[in-house]
Amino acid sequence: MTRPVTVRAPAKINLHLGVGGLRPDGKHALATIYQAVGLYDDVTVRDALVWSVALTEPVDGVPLDDDNIAIRAGKALVEHHGLHPADYAAEITIAKGIPVMGGMAGGSADAAATLLALDRLWDLQTPDDDLLEIAGTLGSDVPFALLGGTALGVGHGEIVTPLDDNSSVWWVVVLSDEGLSTPAVYGHFDELSPNAPATPPLPDDLTEALANGDPQDIGDLLANDLWPAARDLRPDLVDVEVQLRSMSPDGVLLSGSGPTLLMLLEDVEEARSMAAELTERGYRCTLAPGPVAGAHVVTYV
Ligand code: ATP
Repeated sequence: MTRPVTVRAPAKINLHLGVGGLRPDGKHALATIYQAVGLYDDVTVRDALVWSVALTEPVDGVPLDDDNIAIRAGKALVEHHGLHPADYAAEITIAKGIPVMGGMAGGSADAAATLLALDRLWDLQTPDDDLLEIAGTLGSDVPFALLGGTALGVGHGEIVTPLDDNSSVWWVVVLSDEGLSTPAVYGHFDELSPNAPATPPLPDDLTEALANGDPQDIGDLLANDLWPAARDLRPDLVDVEVQLRSMSPDGVLLSGSGPTLLMLLEDVEEARSMAAELTERGYRCTLAPGPVAGAHVVTYV
């Protein structure tokens, strides 16, 4: 019997999220800059006779059956290697630190962590490029969760290229009690933007600002095409956004498809005091540094 393996995978945010029109395959063309931030899920895998998934603490909205993306990831890895499905299954335990349906790709992080953990558990020695390719079949954000750091994402987000990022910032992460459905936000984007380009333009200015590492310039260039759709679906976010902009006019961003909101700060003490101020006003928030590493093994006994 092999020993359990635990892999930690980060949440992501999109410093730039350029969305194109709906493609014939039902996906949206993206030109995005991902950044991995310091909120994590830990995924532990153990050999088992049948696939199962459990959470260390109950969290609403996470399926505990074969719909869980972690199980889909495990089965995809078995298939990729041509292993006999009857001989390979795992018990997967997830400690969730990434908000569910928060636009921070928690499910994708779990898929990436599961791929890496099972690769180690079964000593499959899957080449990195193969892991990225399998990840891309599981979801647009899964390859980036393997990579981490800061990266350009094109295609439908699954083609990732690491970017030179010399910034080191703090994000005040303002959580929402209610999740927002990613398909619903994209669906409303399509209604609002019937003339979205087939291929959204690359964010060259932000790429350059990241290489220079000046948080002020980065803050000025944060952009998310899904903002109008998310505001329509969740009008309550507008009030939160107004409050955040009054505290930090340049560095406010919707995380992915929302509803999590983010505020960029250079200084950790300032970030702490903003988070304390928001907590006093009744908001639930936390701090996360960025950029951080992608999925990595933390326990391999
Ligand atoms: P994204 O930013 O990638 O759109 P999100 O952060 O808004 O995603 P997730 O927390 O990744 O949302 O969950 C999206 C959906 O995926 C949920 O409706 C949930 O039912 C489903 N799901 C499947 N597996 C998982 C998992 N391991 N963790 C969380 N959600 C999962």
